[in-house]
Amino acid sequence: MSDIVYLNGEYLAKHDAKVSVLDRGFLFADSVYEVIPVYHSIPFRLTEHLTRLEYCLRSIGLAHAFAAFEWQALIQSVIDKNKGGHLSVYIQVTRGRDKERSHVLDKQTPPTLLIMPMPLSTDVAALKAIRVTLLEDFRWQHCDIKTTALLANILLRNQAESLGFDEAILQRDQYITEASSSNVFAVINGELITPPKNQLILAGITRDLIIELAENASITVHQQPLSLAQLLSADEVWVSSSSREISPISHIDGKIVANGQIGPVATKVHQLFQSFKQSLVNS
Ligand code: PMP
Repeated sequence: MSDIVYLNGEYLAKHDAKVSVLDRGFLFADSVYEVIPVYHSIPFRLTEHLTRLEYCLRSIGLAHAFAAFEWQALIQSVIDKNKGGHLSVYIQVTRGRDKERSHVLDKQTPPTLLIMPMPLSTDVAALKAIRVTLLEDFRWQHCDIKTTALLANILLRNQAESLGFDEAILQRDQYITEASSSNVFAVINGELITPPKNQLILAGITRDLIIELAENASITVHQQPLSLAQLLSADEVWVSSSSREISPISHIDGKIVANGQIGPVATKVHQLFQSFKQSLVNS
C-alpha cells in the first residue's frame, strides 16, 4: 500500500496532507467518520457503509453538502492510487474550517473531506479468543452517530488495555450496550442475542451481516436487551467489528466464558462469514 490520501479535491502524500487549526473537526470533533475494509481492492459492504455515512451526515445536518456525490468513484480512486489489495479506507467529514473559533455554525463553511488508506489486519480471518472487562458506559446519548468525538471510547478502551484486557464491554443500568469499538453478541441455548439498534449503540455493519448470515443458516437471532446477568451466564460471548470481524471471548474480568474455548456457534458463523467474503472475491 502506498500512502496517498484524498483531501478536499486533491490527492496528496499522507504526511503532506494538512488540516487547518480552525477546522471544526480539530477544535470540536464536529465531524463524522467511516471505516471500510477492502479485500482484493473491493470495498466490503460498501452500500451499507455509505448508507450509515449518509445517516450520520444527515444527523449532523451535512447531508445537503454531498447530495449526488460520487462516493463510490472517489473511494475506488483512493484504493487504486494506493495499489489496491487489502486495506482499510478511512473517511472523515468535518463541518469545515471557520474564520474564527465559534460554537455557532456558519452554514456557508464548506465541509472538509478526507479519504485515507490505512493498513488492514488480515489475521482476524482466523478465530482468536480475547479477554474483556466490563465497564460502565459513560458515553453520550447519541452513540448511533459515528462521530470522531471518541474521547469516552478511547478512555474506556485504554482503561481495559492498562488492566491487561483486549476490549471493554459496556453496560448501562445492568444492560449491555456494546463494546468500546465493537458490538456484542451472546449465545444462549444455541440462539443469538444482541442489543437492539437504538441511540445507545453504533449500528455495526459486521453486526448486521452476522445477523443476516445466522438467520440464513436457521440460527435464531434476538435483537433485544441483553442483561448483565444474561451476559455473564451465556454459553458464548463475542464482539464484532469491521477490523476484528468476530472475536470470541474467553474471559470476562478473569471469569471463564464457554470453558475458555471457542464455541460451536462462533465457529459456524465465522465459517459463514469467511465463505461470504470469499464469494464476493470470486464473483
Ligand atoms: N461499536 C463501536 C463503538 C465501534 O466503534 C464500532 C467500529 N466502528 C462498532 C461498534 C462496529 O461497527 P462495524 O461493524 O461497522 O465496524
